[in-house]
Amino acid sequence: MTTLKQLHTPQQHALGATILAWAEQLGTLSEDKHGLTCTYLTATHRATAVQLMQWMREAGMHAHIDAVGNVVGRFLSTDPQARTLITGSHYDTVRNGGKYDGRQGILTAIAVVKHMNDKGMALPFHLEVIAFAEEEGVRFQSTFLGSSAVIGQFDPALLDLQDRDGVVLRDVLAEAGQDLSSIDAIARDPSDLLGYVELHIEQGPVLLEKGLPVGIVTSIAGSRRFQVALTGVASHAGTTPMAMRKDAATAAAEVLLYVEQRCNEDPSSSLVGTVGQLQVPHGSVNVVPGACHFSLDIRAGNDPARDAAVADILAKIETVCQSRNIECTIEPILEAGCAPCAPWLMAQLSSAVERAGLPPFELASGAGHDAMLMARATDVAMLFTRCGNGGISHNPLETLSVDDADVAARILLDFLRHFKPRPARAATRGARAANPANAAPREYTE
Ligand SMILES: [Zn+2]
Repeated sequence: MTTLKQLHTPQQHALGATILAWAEQLGTLSEDKHGLTCTYLTATHRATAVQLMQWMREAGMHAHIDAVGNVVGRFLSTDPQARTLITGSHYDTVRNGGKYDGRQGILTAIAVVKHMNDKGMALPFHLEVIAFAEEEGVRFQSTFLGSSAVIGQFDPALLDLQDRDGVVLRDVLAEAGQDLSSIDAIARDPSDLLGYVELHIEQGPVLLEKGLPVGIVTSIAGSRRFQVALTGVASHAGTTPMAMRKDAATAAAEVLLYVEQRCNEDPSSSLVGTVGQLQVPHGSVNVVPGACHFSLDIRAGNDPARDAAVADILAKIETVCQSRNIECTIEPILEAGCAPCAPWLMAQLSSAVERAGLPPFELASGAGHDAMLMARATDVAMLFTRCGNGGISHNPLETLSVDDADVAARILLDFLRHFKPRPARAATRGARAANPANAAPREYTE
C-alpha cells in the first residue's frame, strides 16, 4: 500500500526541511540562555536580521534592512514596470516564545524564492519578502512598528517610547545606525501593490482538530476591550448576613459566567470573550469583597457579531449591579475593527490548496497579525499552518511538522506561479486607505 509519506519526493520535502532547519538556527539567537526571546532592536534581534538578509541574498533577492529594522528582500521580475506582491511576517518574538510564530512565514517565502531562483523560474511581478522587525510589542509596548512604517503610518511619537530599562527607542535606532529621517520613505505606494499574502502558524487548535495541514483565513478578528470596576461594601465576613451583603466579587462572578455563555451561543462567528485579569483589591480572607476589577476582551471575525455581544454583556453588567446594589464603571480601552481578507486573493489561495489535494478549509484569525495593518494599504490574504502540541503558541512548546511546513511552502509556490492580479483596484484601494474604519489603534496586541 502506498502511504502519503511515500508520495513525497525528496525534492518536495526539501522545502519543509530547509524551513525547519532555518527556524532551528534562528532559534539559537536569543536574549535568554533558555528559550527563545528576540525583542525589538536588541543585539539578538539585529543578528537575526543580518542572518535573514544573508539568506535572502543567497536565495537570489536584493535585500536590505530598512530604517526601522524590517528586512526587505526583492525577487525582481524581468519586467521592470511590473507591480509588487508582498509576502512575509514578523521575526521578533514574545519572551520565551516559539520558533515558528512569524518566522515560518518569512522562512517559507525565502525557501520558495530560493527554489524558483535555483530552477531559473521568473515571475511576471516583483515579489517582495518582508521580515517585519516588530509585531509583538514586547520591548516598547507598542505593536506593529514594522508594518506601520511599510504602510506609511509610523507614528513619530513612538520614537520617545522607553523600554523597561528606560532606554529610548530613538536612541536605540540611532545606535543601530538607522537614519530616522528616512522612516517616512519606507512607505510603499499603494498603487504599486498587488496585494499582501501572509503565511502564519495558526497559534490555535482548529486545524489540528480538523486533521488539516493548512487553512485559509477569512478575516482577522477585531477586538473591543474594557476595564470594569465594581464597587460594593467591604464588611465583616463573619457578621454580615448573606442577604445584607454588597459583594463586588460575586457580582463579577455572575458577569464572567455570562461572558462565557454569551460567546458560546455564537460559535459560527468566531466570537470569543475573555476575562484575563480579575482582582479583589485589598481583599482579605475575612472581608466581604468591597471592590472587584476585571478586564474584558471580546473578539469576532465580523464587527456586528462582536458589537452585539458587547452590547449584551454591558447590559448584563448593569442588570447584575442593579440587583446586587453594586456600583460600576466601565472604561473602554480599545476598539479595533476586524480586517476581512480579500475574496479574490482567498479564491486563488483556495485553488492552490485544492491543487495540493487538500480541502480549502476556511477559518477566522482570533489573533492580530501584520496582515491587519497591511489591509489598510492593499488587499490581504492569509494561509494558516497547523500548530502541533494542542495548538499551543507564544510558548517554547510550539511545534510545526516538516510535512506541514513543506505542504504550506508548496502551496505558496503554486499560488505564486498561478497568481493573477486583480484588475482596476486603484480607486477602491484609495477609498479603503482613507476609511477611518480600517484604522486600528497601534496598541492592539495579539
Ligand atoms: Zn505572529
